[in-house]
Amino acid sequence: MISCEKAAKICNKLQYKEASFFEKISLKFHLLICKTCPQFSKKNSEFTSLCEKAHLQSLTEEEKIKMKQELENVNE
Ligand SMILES: [Zn+2]
Repeated sequence: MISCEKAAKICNKLQYKEASFFEKISLKFHLLICKTCPQFSKKNSEFTSLCEKAHLQSLTEEEKIKMKQELENVNE
């Protein structure tokens, strides 16, 4: 689980398309689980729009397969 600070940094990287695949997955998981970011985002409209974009962006089939592989590797 990444920190909210890390999530915000990945949001910024996403804006410039510099986030790695693993960072994108980490961010998606963070936004699914985190209770703090939605509250924080009310105070920071930029952070909201970036994270909402990341959250709403659907995974491609290829990304889903990669994500499954990443998760399997973590469990080993
Ligand atoms: Zn958070």
